Amino acid sequence: MKNNIINVSKPSLPRKKEYFNIIKTFWKTKQISNYGQYHQKLELDLKRYLKQDELSIFTNGHIALESALETLSKKGEIITTPFTFASTTHAIMRTENKPVFCDIEKDNYTIDVRKVEKLINDKTVAILPVHVYGNICEVDKLEEIAKKHNLTLIYDAAHVFGVEYKSRGIASFGDICMFSFHATKVFHTAEGGALTYNNPQLKTVIDRMKNFGIVDAENVDYIGSNAKMDEFRAALGIINLRGIDKEISKRKSVVERYFKLLGNVKGIKLNSVQEGVKPNYAYMPVLFDGFKKSRDQVLEELKAQNIFARKYFYPLTTDFDCYKEMYDSNQTPIAKHIAANILTLPLYGDLPIKEVDRICNIILS
Ligand SMILES: *Cc1c(COP(=O)(O)O)cnc(C)c1O
Repeated sequence: MKNNIINVSKPSLPRKKEYFNIIKTFWKTKQISNYGQYHQKLELDLKRYLKQDELSIFTNGHIALESALETLSKKGEIITTPFTFASTTHAIMRTENKPVFCDIEKDNYTIDVRKVEKLINDKTVAILPVHVYGNICEVDKLEEIAKKHNLTLIYDAAHVFGVEYKSRGIASFGDICMFSFHATKVFHTAEGGALTYNNPQLKTVIDRMKNFGIVDAENVDYIGSNAKMDEFRAALGIINLRGIDKEISKRKSVVERYFKLLGNVKGIKLNSVQEGVKPNYAYMPVLFDGFKKSRDQVLEELKAQNIFARKYFYPLTTDFDCYKEMYDSNQTPIAKHIAANILTLPLYGDLPIKEVDRICNIILS
């Protein structure tokens, strides 16, 4: 018997009827973009869920991140990490800033705060750390460093939707946070994203940036882009948000099963929830370090059974063809080691527990 294909992620979709009930009204109202009522409502619902009052939604997370960087008053060096998705490094380059790479922590894969300060100089304008897999950076320490050196702190928060730290929404840390609502993320609108920020004065600037810099019918004061979310996706977001707590709790059961089967195996390191953190179970990363098989062997054996895990993040962004002439990935040895040995296993709310058992059996056999 042929086994079903299992991918690393699978987007949760609402019941058709619930979604169609909203979108069928569009044939009457004809409002399908340009800040319609669902755009407005999704922003309100997200503010409540993320516990953050200042928020703007975007057509995707990447353009939201570029927009966040465009709010900086000057260009310069931005301290970040190479253990991330292409988007983070690209956003820095595409806004004509220069990425400066800091190594990561070996335990939670986020920026190593002990190594940040020695990378700061008079050209540094911002720090752009990445919350990875649902793990959070050392936010208190980063805030202290940013304040001390008068730097803007912008988080790539694409992986931490709904995560809380000491009962505060993760969106409230730093000057600006970028969330992605791509189909592979815990909460999604097919494609989409948002910026959250603490300074309410940024709202006008950011909202103008995503609409060509248009002030009103006859005035344009900024060379903006077009990054507005349309009403079809806003409606999808509103409904998906209603089911998000259920999705996260189903993911929790899947993760617990993985922990039960792989938790005490020599050479396998799993990703534990950090102290003080309310997790979102976004990813299931497994580090193969001293295990009887290599990461790549495990990947291939799973693939032979139609199970598609992912080398995420591999390669480091500094090893991409478009960056490797400019950077030496050996400068961040921990990130290099993690990227070479980590695998994210399939994880989504509807993944049957018996499939988790099958995946673990393949790994262990
Ligand atoms: C998904 C992701 C992004 C980009 O988000 P999009 O919505 O796909 O544009 C940026 N950074 C990280 C770490 C991501 O995982």
